[in-house]
Amino acid sequence: MEIIFIFLVGTAIGSFLNVLVDRLPRGEGVFGGRSHCDKCKKDLAWYDLIPLFSFLILRGKCRYCHTPLSLYYPVVELTTGILFVLVFVFLGARIMNQELRILDYITLVYYFIIISSLIVVFFTDLKYGIIPDAIVAPSIFVSFPYLFFNHYSLILNHLLSGGGAFLFFLFLFLITKGRGMGFGDVKLSFLLGLVLGFPKIAVALYISFLTGAIVGCILIIWKRKRLHGTKIPFGPFLVFGTLLTIFLGEQIMQIMLGFLFPI
Ligand SMILES: [Zn+2]
Repeated sequence: MEIIFIFLVGTAIGSFLNVLVDRLPRGEGVFGGRSHCDKCKKDLAWYDLIPLFSFLILRGKCRYCHTPLSLYYPVVELTTGILFVLVFVFLGARIMNQELRILDYITLVYYFIIISSLIVVFFTDLKYGIIPDAIVAPSIFVSFPYLFFNHYSLILNHLLSGGGAFLFFLFLFLITKGRGMGFGDVKLSFLLGLVLGFPKIAVALYISFLTGAIVGCILIIWKRKRLHGTKIPFGPFLVFGTLLTIFLGEQIMQIMLGFLFPI
């Protein structure tokens, strides 16, 4: 029952994240203006904006001009719903067995915020090649009080992890003259280090570079001629590596240590 509720809340948040994804890179106001069809500019009614449901009922087309709607909308809503459930299951499981404590609620809310930010970064970078400061900066700001009150003993670790990741990406940014990495990736890496701490940040970056290299190779082979000059954004890989590490970091570290030190 709780799972269904969390999923529905997640899809509703996802529908708001869609607005952020499309408006932040264009510098449009988030709260001003109603949602409208990009093609015929008709305002959408509330019943056109029910997460997932409206998309299915309209079979993915605008009610007025029947232009196919972007698949990004239901994908973002579904992804947010699923990730919210995962946060609840992975981080809330140990909470449900015990007395509910206020700090556990704060942890849950903190991760809902961070996951939402990462989803927006994933899709703005994928669609527009932009990682908005308006997402990364507030996430960094909420991380400080969270770490201070919940993980006081680890705060130095997380700060150094953020700083270390930042310097590492700054170095990559400078030696590639901004062609391999954008400065958005550099700022994002500070947030990721702050959230994950060491050694998890190393695991996340390793996964990011590995999946980035694999996907990059597949894309080059797949459409070999057209790739020249096209930049593959790295933000989505950083987000993917971070999400995987948030949920399965302990298990991945076990496996990696097993490879490094086989007994
Ligand atoms: Zn339309």
